[in-house]
Amino acid sequence: MAVLIKGKDLSAKIVEKIRQEVLNQERKPTLVVIIVGNNPASRIYVSKKKHTAELAGFNSRVIELEESINQEDLEKQIEILNLDTNVNGILVQLPLPKHINAYAIIEKILPQKDVDGLHPVNIGRLAIGLKPYAISCTPYGIIKLLEENNIEIEGKHAVIIGRSNIVGKPLSYLLLNRNATVTVCHSKTKNLPEIASQADILVAAVGIPKFVKADWIKEEAVVIDVGINRMEDGKLLGDVDFEEVEKKAGYITPVPGGVGPMTIAMLLSNTLELFKLQNL
Ligand code: NAD
Repeated sequence: MAVLIKGKDLSAKIVEKIRQEVLNQERKPTLVVIIVGNNPASRIYVSKKKHTAELAGFNSRVIELEESINQEDLEKQIEILNLDTNVNGILVQLPLPKHINAYAIIEKILPQKDVDGLHPVNIGRLAIGLKPYAISCTPYGIIKLLEENNIEIEGKHAVIIGRSNIVGKPLSYLLLNRNATVTVCHSKTKNLPEIASQADILVAAVGIPKFVKADWIKEEAVVIDVGINRMEDGKLLGDVDFEEVEKKAGYITPVPGGVGPMTIAMLLSNTLELFKLQNL
């Protein structure tokens, strides 16, 4: 039976450590989250982020904008926040409505306030092995989970299923920078089960419930499930067939309670780091 990697516990520890640090400071870090439209999943994520930011003692503000907002007005909103010296971190909740160019919006955020680590300057610095202002929260959380569980990365074969800009790609850079051999798979990859079965560390970031099966897993592999798939009955399922895979893997993250809470913890960690950088 695999060892359960409990992101929820580590996340609580990180948030508590941040809270202690903030407690002793006169000024508090300020995180602003922009949400556009009424996507129900986005609303849940945003309210969790706000709640946890407040738990940590941050000032936290959510700016809710109409689905119909145009590109120019959204960019103006970001420019205002860029100039506001009381705002340390800006996050635009994705996805944005189809008529908005999300990349152009992210590029408008000052890299020094880009708490999500998605600005091309931050992604670019990560890709060439330089320290970004902020590291993308979900991949950063995955690295913290591996480190906390003393899972060796150097020399290991890491297979990532999914090449998105928020998970798969930045995670591939983080693992490469730690000397893993990294294979990134995607929807056009051939022989996926065969490639997955070579992984010492297998990361699933696909968005298809129970996509990764037990016979894709190498004995004792470390399996990280990024997927969050809400079923019709309201239940959350990951991208990994947990019940079967946990019998074969060495380590596994649960859904919920695995990678998800770490994403929020790393968001707060990034906000605190940016706050400190801006107040040197
Ligand atoms: P995305 O839709 O942007 O990317 C999905 C990736 O999966 C793509 O690269 C695509 O090529 C690949 N893919 C799709 N079908 C495939 C197939 N049949 N075979 C192989 N690859 C395939 O998704 P994303 O934003 O990276 O999110 C992935 C999942 O992770 C979703 O369930 C999302 O909700 C979840 N997520 C969770 C967190 C968290 O904090 N836990 C954060 C971000 C995303």
